Amino acid sequence: MIYPWQTTQWNSLLDLKQQDRLPHALLFKGMAGTGKYDFACQFARALLCKRVDSKGQACGQCDACQLIEAGTHPDFLQLAPEEPGKAIKVDEVRSLCQEMQLTSQYGGYKLVIINHADSMNINASNSLLKTLEEPTANSILILVSSSPHRLPITIRSRCQNVMFTSPDTATALDWLQAHACQQAETLLSLAHGSPLAALELGESGDHEQRDTLVNAILASSQDKPIVGHAESLSKLHSERLLNWFYDWLTDLVNVQQGAETSRLVHIDKVKELNQLAGKITLKGLYLYMDQLNLIRRAQSIPMNTQLMWEDLLISWKQYIQR
Ligand SMILES: [Zn+2]
Repeated sequence: MIYPWQTTQWNSLLDLKQQDRLPHALLFKGMAGTGKYDFACQFARALLCKRVDSKGQACGQCDACQLIEAGTHPDFLQLAPEEPGKAIKVDEVRSLCQEMQLTSQYGGYKLVIINHADSMNINASNSLLKTLEEPTANSILILVSSSPHRLPITIRSRCQNVMFTSPDTATALDWLQAHACQQAETLLSLAHGSPLAALELGESGDHEQRDTLVNAILASSQDKPIVGHAESLSKLHSERLLNWFYDWLTDLVNVQQGAETSRLVHIDKVKELNQLAGKITLKGLYLYMDQLNLIRRAQSIPMNTQLMWEDLLISWKQYIQR
């Protein structure tokens, strides 16, 4: 099943299929956590399935569906980085392109999905370009990317772009509640409106890391010892916490400027934000944001995270007026 916020994209692609006008290359783009890859898989299934339902979705029962489920359908190929953050290499793309040149074994479409396509290095992209310029009949390549600007323009311009966005809050909350998600509103806000990321935060318990961060900020604000907090934070996911810290600062700016509560990210911490907003100047917030951004940008460089957190919390203390 596709997600309820993806019906527009689904219907327009289905229209193209019915008119026999599906392009050979598609780029599914949009922010992370909107379900682009899941959609791509569902679309691939629907194109290969022999008994699609009235909404054009795969039956899940036929030979083709079963082969896809087992990961052995010869006309359905996938490529993605070996690990998150790693590059897709030229050899991998080259062998994928060679397989794409072969005609489909079942006589229908030949589907290829490259997830995190922006992870292709420059040689890999160049290798793919040749296939995009001379596509084989019935082959459909789907590139999935949350950072499409990182793809060479030569690749982007040869794909039909399909944009994916987060659903509106009501749709997202309905979906989360249907998945028995507790604290749906808070999690959705912490996940910047992405229902899939919100669900993952809730199921993994990772949202509790945010509480560790807020406790550390509040302790520092009250001039309490911070070493223990820094130690706790150093054991957690730095990048995500630094992003939440940045959100905390933008929330404070918003509170100072009288923005509506619904615009806040740390939506469950309104009381704490209100108390703190009166104790730091706008200039102080912007200066601290600059400092935080330098550290966020340096995350690829190995560093002592305990010291990083100690520095951040000690520095924060100095901006708070008592
Ligand atoms: Zn089927």
